[in-house]
Amino acid sequence: MKIMKFGGTSVGNPDRMKALIPLINDDERKIVVLSAMAGTTNSLVEIANLLCADNINEASDNINNLRSKYHQVVEELFSNEIIRKSGHELIDSHFEYIRNFTLRVFTKVQEKAILAQGELISTSLFHLLLQERNIKAILLPALSFMRIDKDGEPDSFYIEENIERELKNYPSEKIIITQGFICRNAYGEIDNLKRGGSDFTASLIGAALNAKEIQIWTDINGFHNNDPRFVENTKVIRELSFDEAAELAYFGAKILHPSSVNPARERNIPVRLKNTMEPEDIGTLITSSSVLQDYKAVAAKDGISVLRIRSDRMLMAYGFLRKVFEIFEAYRTPIDMITTSEVAVSITLDNPEFIKQIAKDLKELGTVEVEENQTIICIVGDFRTEKTGSAPEIFEALNTIPLKMISYGGSPNSLSLLIDTSNKKEALRLLSKHLFD
Ligand code: ADP
Ligand code: ASP
Ligand code: MG
Repeated sequence: MKIMKFGGTSVGNPDRMKALIPLINDDERKIVVLSAMAGTTNSLVEIANLLCADNINEASDNINNLRSKYHQVVEELFSNEIIRKSGHELIDSHFEYIRNFTLRVFTKVQEKAILAQGELISTSLFHLLLQERNIKAILLPALSFMRIDKDGEPDSFYIEENIERELKNYPSEKIIITQGFICRNAYGEIDNLKRGGSDFTASLIGAALNAKEIQIWTDINGFHNNDPRFVENTKVIRELSFDEAAELAYFGAKILHPSSVNPARERNIPVRLKNTMEPEDIGTLITSSSVLQDYKAVAAKDGISVLRIRSDRMLMAYGFLRKVFEIFEAYRTPIDMITTSEVAVSITLDNPEFIKQIAKDLKELGTVEVEENQTIICIVGDFRTEKTGSAPEIFEALNTIPLKMISYGGSPNSLSLLIDTSNKKEALRLLSKHLFD
């Protein structure tokens, strides 16, 4: 069994969908995980926001526009009249469902139900396409096995038990299609694995079924050594370890959802990143082994805030950091990066939801400064503690950029820095020039 996940651009238009058929149509049993067509989730988020703001007219216009786009997709996707008719009916039923939300009070729970329509539509259309080509496949609803617990974490036990039970009904099917991203929560409501979550779905399914390989098919030839959206001439890395990939994904490499490496790593299942537009390219292979290299890749994570706590009470005291951490725990807010001196501690977080309350509580311990619009730059390479002379190139490269925090020694394979987001592009460019060119 292998898992093949195709992202938004890989199902982004009728031709792209058709191009997937030769990639999946062989004798191997596989789960095909699909994202929504590129742009759809963003459009659905916009519709949900308009409904939240009670802007019903604009929401209805957006719903109609998206619906027309999908009717056009159906026209181009199918050639058989009967199948095409089913395609149009399918689109109508999903958009009737969305339109119903314009008629009543709108809540956050319903927002999740609206967002789910993107993956529900793409998988149904693809299933119909295979039907038109007489290719046997089944559509397995992710909502029947993918679940998060009350903390928003995947319920691995539930997922494993339920997907296995569902698959027993189809012992010999070769192609099993399911939705990425969407799931149910602990209360049985429709929920999701956060933006970009289809990668996470693929990894969770791969782990649950002990798959041979998890393939993430996207629009680029694998993991690049820097973010190609901001830096020119980035290069593909052919091999990465789980640890390296996990750090890069967590610290902003958009090619993988931040949590998507963990389930694969726990079960030691190789993850392969491939390009749907260039399927013959070998892509990137992520496994437990890796070739060490001084510098392998750089990633950046925006939306970071830093809290600086200064207190003379910290001097020679014990238990001070525990008090600090307890405040973050009380607000269920994870910490990304931390640096300490004898009288001060700086902490970054990527979820600013409770930042005001956290800062207020921290003021009981000392003076507190908050700074927003920060970016963490993560450099992955060989940073083992016994090694000498690896970091100078980084500081030389960035000697024109103010470095707000430096985290070294926390992980043998990464070094992280905090900078102003306004300096991000330049920092990434300088790092590529000095470390990789
Ligand atoms: P999909 O829709 O297939 O999930 P994404 O847009 O989520 O695709 O991820 C692929 C994109 O990630 C690439 O097109 C690229 O712009 C971006 N990206 C950011 N950092 C990297 C990186 N280090 N290597 C490759 N791609 C990256
Ligand atoms: N469709 C979802 C999103 O755009 C999930 C994904 O594509 O991975 O975030
Ligand atoms: Mg993605």
